[in-house]
Amino acid sequence: MSSLTHPTIKDGWFAEISDTMWPGQAMSIKVKEVLHVEQSKYQDVLVFKSETYGNVLVLDGCIQVTERDEFAYQEMIAHLALNSHPNPKKALVIGGGDGGVLREILKHESIEEAWLCDIDETVIKVSKKYLPEMSKSYEDPRVKVHIGDGFKFLAEYKNQFDVIITDSSDPEGPAEVLFQKPYFTLLKNALTEKGVITTQAENIYLHMDIISQLKKDCNEIFPVAEYAYTMIPTYPSGSIGFMVCSKDANAEVSKPIRFDWTDDFVRKNLKYYNAKIHEASFVLPTFADEILNKKSA
Ligand code: SAM
Repeated sequence: MSSLTHPTIKDGWFAEISDTMWPGQAMSIKVKEVLHVEQSKYQDVLVFKSETYGNVLVLDGCIQVTERDEFAYQEMIAHLALNSHPNPKKALVIGGGDGGVLREILKHESIEEAWLCDIDETVIKVSKKYLPEMSKSYEDPRVKVHIGDGFKFLAEYKNQFDVIITDSSDPEGPAEVLFQKPYFTLLKNALTEKGVITTQAENIYLHMDIISQLKKDCNEIFPVAEYAYTMIPTYPSGSIGFMVCSKDANAEVSKPIRFDWTDDFVRKNLKYYNAKIHEASFVLPTFADEILNKKSA
């Protein structure tokens, strides 16, 4: 048993507290053992073994992934984009250092190259050690890894990627730039003709201001820009959303267009995503629909 400690852990419980992102509430997870504590060049990195959620990766005090429920996020952020594209061959992940989104991309036979650009190599290092079911994707020969800022990286590429997935942390710290309008222009320029993106787009109960701005910015840059979401217990308020945008004005991202996966394949290889949930994830509760699809549309 390690003797490591961390300021977010008291009396055996980790608490995710942020007075700016989710004031007045906190997700708590019971800790079995602290596995890793490190201040990297960019962020505070914590990994702990929990009583009921497996190993948990925390950056700057915010939960990034838990082994128990990560599939609900990784499958959705990946397949909403990949299954909205007619034939994705080259995909890029910005962020996503744990490797979980790469794992999902690699499930598509059409994929020839899967690139990843994360700013922090410490996240990749600790994921390889403590999150093997996510980081196993780094062993696939189709994967190319670049360590650096996603914004600067994207500026170097034009018409390159069929799908780009931004699996970022929250818009405080190194990921702030990945939520701003100039970043979405870079994404569009780096896509091929019918290219599709998804980005992490926060929670409808907590972040309607951030989401409204994201939707407005995306609508100004892409001909198609829709908000979808997934249910996941360990993200604040139990759900997290995505912006799904296409460069193709005729695209209907809420319908999977190349669902060549058989039912049998889905049941063997996926735990959350299926064709019905792809469509359902774009159906919003009335209060969110009013703001995102009526007023700002
Ligand atoms: N699924 C998670 C969530 O929504 O909480 C995100 C997980 S993923 C581990 C987030 C990654 O984004 C981290 O590894 C972090 O290093 C990376 N990141 C943050 N800012 C970045 C930037 N500007 N460029 C590239 N990667 C960045």
